[in-house]
Amino acid sequence: MCAVPKPECEEALDRLFEYIDHELPEDEIHRIGEHLKECPPCEAEHKINEKIKRLVNKTGHDVAPEDLRARILQTIRATRPDGA
Ligand SMILES: [Zn+2]
Repeated sequence: MCAVPKPECEEALDRLFEYIDHELPEDEIHRIGEHLKECPPCEAEHKINEKIKRLVNKTGHDVAPEDLRARILQTIRATRPDGA
């Protein structure tokens, strides 16, 4: 299953970092939270990014350097057979 992302998905993924950082208004946090609950691919992406954020926090950086982020994503994706 590899459908074109829905507009809600694009929005959720677009705001994912702000969502994780709680930098969104209450209603958007709620909207995206609801979407994540009913959309497994987006929820998976959310989990991955939360994980990256935790790993990055451990290194003492606020933001993951782009190459570190890419490397983590690649590692995580490599373990997922569906490649979603
Ligand atoms: Zn989605």
